[in-house]
Amino acid sequence: MAKFDLAIIGSGPGGYVAAIRAGQWGLKTVVIEKDGFLGGTCLHVGCIPTKVLLHNAEVYDHFKNAKEFGIEVKEFSVDWTAVLARKDKIVKKHSKGIELLFRKSKVETMQGWGRIAGPGRVSVEQQGKTTEIEATNILLATGSEARSLPGVEIDGKVVLTNREILSIGGIPKSLVVVGAGAVGVEFASIFHSFGTEVALLEMLPRIVPLEDEEISAELDKTFRKKGIQIHTEALVESVKKDAKGATVTFKDKAGQSQTIAAERVLVAVGRKPNTENLGLEKTKAKTERGYVHAGPYLETAEPRLYAIGDIVAGLPQLAHAASMEGITAVGKMAGRDVPAFDRNRVPNATYCDPQIASIGMGEKQARDAGLKIQVGRFPFAGNSKATILGSHGGFIKVVADEKYGEVLGVHIIGPLATEIIAEAVVAMQLEATLDDLMFMIHAHPTVWEAMGDAFASVRGLAINV
Ligand SMILES: Cc1cc2nc3c(=O)[nH]c(=O)nc-3n(C[C@H](O)[C@H](O)[C@H](O)COP(=O)(O)OP(=O)(O)OC[C@H]3O[C@@H](n4cnc5c(N)ncnc54)[C@H](O)[C@@H]3O)c2cc1C
Repeated sequence: MAKFDLAIIGSGPGGYVAAIRAGQWGLKTVVIEKDGFLGGTCLHVGCIPTKVLLHNAEVYDHFKNAKEFGIEVKEFSVDWTAVLARKDKIVKKHSKGIELLFRKSKVETMQGWGRIAGPGRVSVEQQGKTTEIEATNILLATGSEARSLPGVEIDGKVVLTNREILSIGGIPKSLVVVGAGAVGVEFASIFHSFGTEVALLEMLPRIVPLEDEEISAELDKTFRKKGIQIHTEALVESVKKDAKGATVTFKDKAGQSQTIAAERVLVAVGRKPNTENLGLEKTKAKTERGYVHAGPYLETAEPRLYAIGDIVAGLPQLAHAASMEGITAVGKMAGRDVPAFDRNRVPNATYCDPQIASIGMGEKQARDAGLKIQVGRFPFAGNSKATILGSHGGFIKVVADEKYGEVLGVHIIGPLATEIIAEAVVAMQLEATLDDLMFMIHAHPTVWEAMGDAFASVRGLAINV
């Protein structure tokens, strides 16, 4: 029986990053992946393909707004087949890239369904044939799949998840997006840019409900201004297919029944963990509604069994969180001195137009926790580079501790939000205070320098407003 120091089940951004670090730290590692390619949800039907389409949409928007930049474009149109081909090419390139990185770190792979067969044993099933291996450590990184709503059947043709919508044959004339979390608003943004009539339905009182309330309000305002229809506190009752597409029936805020007909419906109401049929019942690991409980080093209650990524209870379902969880777990296995995983230092990034990025506490969250805080805001309208880019809506909001000025949270909506959040991530990692950040020199002119003004705004000292 083949023996490994570490067997990883799943090759998404949790599993493949953990494998490479394990190889770098000298652990004999194997990755078991059921699909015939490496990279998981993130690379194949998540982060990467959506960001490709968002970039295409942005390029298309530039053409639509070309006149503002003094450029006359007489005729232009979208070649959807070419758009999809570029997306697929990028995905393939990076999937091959993981294979290369595995070879470099001497990580082995096995294709098949991985399952815990007993303490230190993993079975791999492929086309009816089962192979067993021994592993000192086992890391579960099996990720998640899209959820649906009770009574809503996903047929993959009209009623879609993130998986099918990424390869639909053409741009739909109309689309209802059910769920206004990160996935829902990104697709709403993509298809709106490409000319689709989009309606966004959200069960909670606001869109992007995990973000600070002012960020939700700003996105709501901007989306409506662009012409995206939004219904919050909307309870979807049924999705019925017909010859033209489907009709979505929902109860609105006032309790009235409403219907919207559309060519396609995207269901983006959250993700369910892939933990069935994994052999977890044979272990002491604790699970809750399918999620696995893990400690600060991602260890489960079963010795030498670790869990990372979208399957972990209480941690954000984000690729970069999964990757750092993997690095942390592998550090523990390899006996390295690595810090515990800190969920409060995970940035959120949503790539709709306008972009959103955040880290740490929102204003309400901090006040509800009884903290004494001070808050500052800086609008991108005061940032010259944002104006040059023709994208000067939105703002940066900073939540800081009142006494020492420690930065507790930063919330951005506007140009390059997902890039400039980097400064806030470093600030929180190093427990920086407003005084540290207000005197940091930012290059001019950059969108990034708006961060300096935002930190100064907490003390009423922003320059450009
Ligand atoms: C549309 C969309 C857009 C997203 N955009 C972003 C983004 O921009 N940024 C971001 O940070 N996050 C984004 N996410 C979330 C991100 O994709 C996930 O958080 C991330 O992929 C989780 O990584 P993971 O390694 O836990 O699992 P996954 O990426 O889901 O990988 C799990 C792997 O395990 C394999 N597997 C499952 N069960 C078994 C088994 N029993 N045996 C063998 N193999 C198995 C699967 O085939 C898969 O390859 C997005 C998600 C979606 C759906």
